[in-house]
Amino acid sequence: MNVNQSAPPLPPFGQSQPVYPGYHPSSYGGQPGSTAPPTPYGAYNGPVPGYQQTPPPGVSRAPPSSEAPPASTAQAPSGQAAYGQFGQGDVQNGPSSTVQMQRFPGSQPFGSVPLAPVVSQPTVLQPYGPPPTSAQVTAQLAGMQISGAVAPALPPVGLGYGPPTSLASASGSFPNSGLYGSYPQGQAPPLSQAQGHLGAQPPQRSAPPQASSFTSPASGGPRMPSMTGPLLSGQGFGGPSLSQPNHVSSPPPQALPPGTQMTGPPGPPPPMHSSQQPGYQLQQNGSFGPARAPQPNYGSSYPGAPTFGSQPGPPQPLPPKRLDPDAIPSPIQVIEDDRNNRGSEPFVTGVRGQVPPLVTTNFLVKDQGNASPRYIRCTSYNIPCTSDMAKQAQVPLAAVIKPLARLPPEEASPYVVDHGESGPLRCNRCKAYMCPFMQFVEGGRRFQCCFCSCINDVPPQYFQHLDHTGKRVDAYDRPELSLGSYEFLATVDYCKNNKFPSPPAFIFMIDVSYNAIRSGLVRLLCEELKSLLDFLPREGGAEESAIRVGFVTYNKVLHFYNVKSSLAQPQMMVVSDVADMFVPLLDGFLVNVSESRAVITSLLDQIPEMFADTRETETVFAPVIQAGMEALKAAECAGKLFLFHTSLPIAEAPGKLKNRDDRKLINTDKEKTLFQPQTGAYQTLAKECVAQGCCVDLFLFPNQYVDVATLSVVPQLTGGSVYKYACFQVENDQERFLSDLRRDVQKVVGFDAVMRVRTSTGIRAVDFFGAFYMSNTTDVELAGLDGDKTVTVEFKHDDRLNEESGALLQCALLYTSCAGQRRLRIHNLALNCCTQLADLYRNCETDTLINYMAKFAYRGVLNSPVKTVRDTLITQCAQILACYRKNCASPSSAGQLILPECMKLLPVYLNCVLKSDVLQPGAEVTTDDRAYVRQLVTSMDVAETNVFFYPRLLPLTKSPIESATEPPAVRASEERLSNGDIYLLENGLNLFLWVGASVQQGVVQSLFSVSSFSQITSGLSVLPVLDNPLSKKVRSLIDSLRAQRSRYMKLIVVKQEDKLEMLFKHFLVEDKSLSGGASYVDFLCHMHKEIRQLLS
Ligand SMILES: [Zn+2]
Repeated sequence: MNVNQSAPPLPPFGQSQPVYPGYHPSSYGGQPGSTAPPTPYGAYNGPVPGYQQTPPPGVSRAPPSSEAPPASTAQAPSGQAAYGQFGQGDVQNGPSSTVQMQRFPGSQPFGSVPLAPVVSQPTVLQPYGPPPTSAQVTAQLAGMQISGAVAPALPPVGLGYGPPTSLASASGSFPNSGLYGSYPQGQAPPLSQAQGHLGAQPPQRSAPPQASSFTSPASGGPRMPSMTGPLLSGQGFGGPSLSQPNHVSSPPPQALPPGTQMTGPPGPPPPMHSSQQPGYQLQQNGSFGPARAPQPNYGSSYPGAPTFGSQPGPPQPLPPKRLDPDAIPSPIQVIEDDRNNRGSEPFVTGVRGQVPPLVTTNFLVKDQGNASPRYIRCTSYNIPCTSDMAKQAQVPLAAVIKPLARLPPEEASPYVVDHGESGPLRCNRCKAYMCPFMQFVEGGRRFQCCFCSCINDVPPQYFQHLDHTGKRVDAYDRPELSLGSYEFLATVDYCKNNKFPSPPAFIFMIDVSYNAIRSGLVRLLCEELKSLLDFLPREGGAEESAIRVGFVTYNKVLHFYNVKSSLAQPQMMVVSDVADMFVPLLDGFLVNVSESRAVITSLLDQIPEMFADTRETETVFAPVIQAGMEALKAAECAGKLFLFHTSLPIAEAPGKLKNRDDRKLINTDKEKTLFQPQTGAYQTLAKECVAQGCCVDLFLFPNQYVDVATLSVVPQLTGGSVYKYACFQVENDQERFLSDLRRDVQKVVGFDAVMRVRTSTGIRAVDFFGAFYMSNTTDVELAGLDGDKTVTVEFKHDDRLNEESGALLQCALLYTSCAGQRRLRIHNLALNCCTQLADLYRNCETDTLINYMAKFAYRGVLNSPVKTVRDTLITQCAQILACYRKNCASPSSAGQLILPECMKLLPVYLNCVLKSDVLQPGAEVTTDDRAYVRQLVTSMDVAETNVFFYPRLLPLTKSPIESATEPPAVRASEERLSNGDIYLLENGLNLFLWVGASVQQGVVQSLFSVSSFSQITSGLSVLPVLDNPLSKKVRSLIDSLRAQRSRYMKLIVVKQEDKLEMLFKHFLVEDKSLSGGASYVDFLCHMHKEIRQLLS
């Protein structure tokens, strides 16, 4: 049997293993004997002579919360400082008007010849001639509404936007509450003419990435502009910082015939060019242009094929030009192209250094020797051979690892390999685990370690002959010799205290103070738990979960419950000495659900009644965690605490907190204190929890500031999760809370875990980001790790790499399964190494880069002023792009912005990170919101950061109702909204349904069961269940979006020009934000300026 060809899907950690000779299936699941040396973890963590590296001076590898300030290395060149002002709207920012952006050499007058010059590799953003005035650009932007080939109905002019008052309550439960408080006067939305925008194909990511080499459409060649001309000076749509003396793709001066200027945003549609350009269709991606011809890659098809309006012939008369947002790289286009190019074929992992499809592409993975991108994604799949090269490029070398990622049903879970008493085979020196890259020599009697080159003996029981190519003849029968990911059953050597672990336990710890009772939370939760306990995680095939459960309630004191099956009624034991927490009972506290069901049900019935009349408003917090941890310790097991907590713990007890929220600290050097815990007590407590394998999940229900930055320390350091439901009310929030709770309780978790990333000689892991604890520089300790959590690891050179041998990563996760089995999960990944920078830039993955950069920045705010963090990001991005420009791009004029194909979205995505609530909060974003988002992002995988920073915006009525597929997204900008349409916007945490003011009455009726737009309830969170195709389609789409995300997204219906719309607009990330965040166009101009400064 060849596992590569016919690996059948198995249940997670499946019991039924395929028959592999030599696997010892008989002993699988059993407890191997314990004849091995009794060194707990010794084999795993022990010193590794000659291999274990020490961090270089200055590289801190302490836990993230105590990390040295990574972002404080303010290496920003002098030009950097200007950016903050740029973002704040200083007209002096952005490229100055004296910086001439020049025409691409050899390119034709804009729009006149439909041929794009092709240069090697780069995406070229072609600027044109002297820029128009800032007002012109502003107006052009304003006119960039995109909604149809003819101008659709526009929002009524002059309706304006209501005062941004009292929005907070409507958005109370949103982590990213909006920016409504400071909505500037006079900032009318860009309501000007919707244009049939006759653009070129937006830039594409072609497949394979290595093959992409073209001049971006933005270089101007074939692009046909559509606006008749810029607005008159001074008629921009407001916003102080829209000055853009220089910008990409601005029209050449000769293309601005006088007399074609528009009269202003509310004016009539400009003359269209439809007569000159027949055949333009609305594209599926929401942009306009010719119907998409097959474009296998730009290299071949670009120069001649897309002729934009089917007029390859003589140059057309020059229409007036406008700044064209479609001329700058579009995330939507890149995502769609990758789906089209790479979504149909499985991604086979047999080849070293392959860049996987984007996270937004649906694809299947076939493991042929490297870990699936679902487990590991890298910023680059081709690493510079030398550290000098790496320093020059400034491209972070990082891997985003999700060791327990859930797989789609079509893909097999990792096979479990049982080597019996001898345990997994490892290199004697570096302790790397047997993997497909180990080289067997001397007829199979020895193997050379692929990580440290040590020659090891093959144990007799593992011996096998080699074939004529030097490969073991059983290679394809053994997962550890043929697959990128697999598991080993661990022997007792890998167990704490040299004892196999007991099954884990879950302890539910419920705040029963006044707020919790009054909001209905306690009653709701107790009712839910009665049924939820039947769905505790199980091993594949097991009839019932091995996990035991316990219950605690608390306010200023703690109440433990004896729910032993032999009792007729539960018994309560009160511990009021919270300063010296102990567990008052052992027997009967942690029980099997089915055995104690009657007593548990009785308890859950009684809890809401017992505290119904409570007047206790104060709570403790640290003693609750302490109690849960002590209970697990007493039971000698790992486990998870589920804390349901409502308020700032001000009661006299360890970990007592005070309200130290102070928004005045924002934009000061002390802003970082808002992200830091206010006491060290929680770090100490977290450390004890980690030692016990006690993971803490925290559900917060605050009505006001609760100091999330401090309360989330223990969940963060124990691999747990934090959920936050501000101003919780049962009727509004129960669906979201219960959905999150169900998912959280049911998800498979590895307990008491240690993760180690080994690398081949030349690079090593130097920095780690995520929810975990580190007591040394190499081992990532996770009290718990679930299938949603990622650890981002950064690598640095410590020697020269070799192009021939490449670079190897091996991530080993030792953990206790839900059933109490000790296992090792191994992921291997081989990367290429290069001596040419171009190879690095051709094999990068921007989504992963952004994941790393966001985590780096979000950790940086703990120690550095936020402005420093932002400047550091901008500098790094500019250095990356400048290095490309200098070393890889074809010679061209300095006026061109040239982006590497794989990184052409880096500016737009980085700008989204820079303007996120953590780095640039709006007036209404609370300190708790920022702390919450900060710790959430720390554990996000690449797909999550991608949609979190650049939300998905889906038009609902553009595609046929009967279409089963998701509608194609449009760019996250107000210009893309048609007031005759309805859109869904989601970012993984929030979900909006935006309704245009001119949407057809039939659509309104079908979706909302009301007769007109004005009757739609703003802020609605549930759509009526109506029996018509549109209603069904939209509701099923909402269900499908929710199913794709790890947290339930509560729906908010937003009506155009309603007050709530400000909240929604916060997520239109290509636009300038109310908190001062730059628009995409502005930021790209700024980035161009930065790059030019670096190059000059
Ligand atoms: Zn080795």
